[in-house]
Amino acid sequence: MEKTGGKGLSLARRLYTSRTLGLALGLLCVGAAMYPLDPAPWVWMLMLLNGILWPHVAYQWARRAKVPFHAEHRNILMDAFLGGFWVAAMQFNPLPSAATLSMMAMNNVAIGGLRFLLAGTVAQVLGAGIGWLIFKPLFIPQTTPLQLYACLPLLSLYPLALGWICFRQATTLGRHKRELLALSRTDSLTGLLNHGAWKDQLEVEFQRCQRQHKGGAVALIDIDHFKTINDTYGHVAGDIVLRQLSRMLKQNLRAADLAGRYGGDEFCVILPDLPLASAASAMDALRDRFATLGYEQNPALKVSLSIGLAAFNPAHTDATFWLNDADRALYEAKTTGRNRVICCGDGRPRRELLDPV
Ligand code: GH3
Ligand code: MG
Repeated sequence: MEKTGGKGLSLARRLYTSRTLGLALGLLCVGAAMYPLDPAPWVWMLMLLNGILWPHVAYQWARRAKVPFHAEHRNILMDAFLGGFWVAAMQFNPLPSAATLSMMAMNNVAIGGLRFLLAGTVAQVLGAGIGWLIFKPLFIPQTTPLQLYACLPLLSLYPLALGWICFRQATTLGRHKRELLALSRTDSLTGLLNHGAWKDQLEVEFQRCQRQHKGGAVALIDIDHFKTINDTYGHVAGDIVLRQLSRMLKQNLRAADLAGRYGGDEFCVILPDLPLASAASAMDALRDRFATLGYEQNPALKVSLSIGLAAFNPAHTDATFWLNDADRALYEAKTTGRNRVICCGDGRPRRELLDPV
């Protein structure tokens, strides 16, 4: 049920379809029940207005309302009131009465749950009361075969249409839920996994390595002197550098690798099942390629990366220790001159892994 944003406009649109169909089919059903009672012309006129004109009036009313949701609430109560009225006018003919009331109840529950069902029931009772006063009905406990056939379209087509509308709504909600979940896990600037989502993946990978006795590596990548780049070339140029790095990560990593933006100018990568030496070569190649990259708007700009790498250590009890190893290696890369990859194989950062054996 939509209450905010469109303030119920999409509800009004949905109800327009179901009300137009439901009341047209209901007209057939009520008309067949009323015909033998030979009602006055004004009753026929009211029946036609309710069955054919009312759905369009109700929709326009809701569309023009400040809060369409509230207008639709009122329209639904009007539907229920008129439903009760026609039940009394039909002299409580069982099948058309049950068909009319149950279809309305189904509609009210589908739209507003128990609250709408109760409100609708009260309106139906009120409508039946007014109808009772006007028509002084007898109770006719019989439905003729013709009246039965006239009720069949309402009984079969209306639930089908309402089910279809609910199904489409559920599908749309499911899609929105998936989109929101993806958004909540994505860094908006780079399109990579955000901090939280990447850490969740690190936990999963840590547990997989423990369970399957596999190896793997984690890399923390930090742009060197990024603050100076921002200060010199502007934040827009800084953003371009961040996007360029994320693009390079997407293009150069394997499909199984998981890259994320750790925060600010720091990126993170999980490299599953990769020996530390291979991970170090891959990261060094990335560092090298990124350092030679040119920027159209700022040809003088050259950007280097410091990278800390850590292998999975089976002695660790927690994924954060793995990350701490990579963080220590990154710190070492920063403090020993930047623009380099430092590996942490056994808890101690070292560079020799990069050197050819
Ligand atoms: P170091 O070489 O030691 O890594 O120094 P640094 O200047 O790269 O690191 P520092 O942590 O001092 O600065 C990071 C800067 O990144 C500071 C912050 O303003 C900037 N930053 C963080 N997020 C964004 C962003 O989304 N876009 C831009 N353009 N800058 C950002
Ligand atoms: Mg930095």
